[in-house]
Amino acid sequence: MSILIERSFDKSIFQNLLLRAREVQQQAYAPYSAFPVGAAIIADNNEIFAGSNVENSSYGLTICAERNALTSMIASDRKNIPLAIAIVGRPGEPCYPCGACIQVLCEFNPSMLVVLEKGETLEIRTLEEYLPFRFKLDR
Ligand SMILES: [Zn+2]
Repeated sequence: MSILIERSFDKSIFQNLLLRAREVQQQAYAPYSAFPVGAAIIADNNEIFAGSNVENSSYGLTICAERNALTSMIASDRKNIPLAIAIVGRPGEPCYPCGACIQVLCEFNPSMLVVLEKGETLEIRTLEEYLPFRFKLDR
C-alpha cells in the first residue's frame, strides 16, 4: 500500500531535506552493509539536522541515520520539535525507517512526516501510519 499525502508543506522544503540527506549520506560509515543512509530532519524552528548511519563491527551497536539526525537535533536544543524527516538510501528507492527508529522518532512527534523518494515522486506518511500501536509508558 502506497499512500501519498498532500500536506500544507511547501514542496521545496522536502527537496531541501532530501538534498541535505544526500549530502550527509556521503559521510556514512557503512563498511559492513555497504548501504550508506542519510537522513535530514526539519525542526519547528526551521533548522535542519542531518545524520548518517554509523556501523560497528559488533553489528548490534550500529546506529541508524535517522536516530543520528534526531540526536543532533536534541543536542542543539531539547525543545525542538521534529516536523519532517527525509531518508535516502539507494537513489530513487524508498528507504523505509526501521522499527527502532520509528519508535524513537515517535517519542518527539508521532505526527512528523517521513519523506522518501520513489522514482520521480515522493512517498510521504506520518510516523503514526508506520507504527500505530507503538509502546508508550503511561505514568
Ligand atoms: Zn533505524
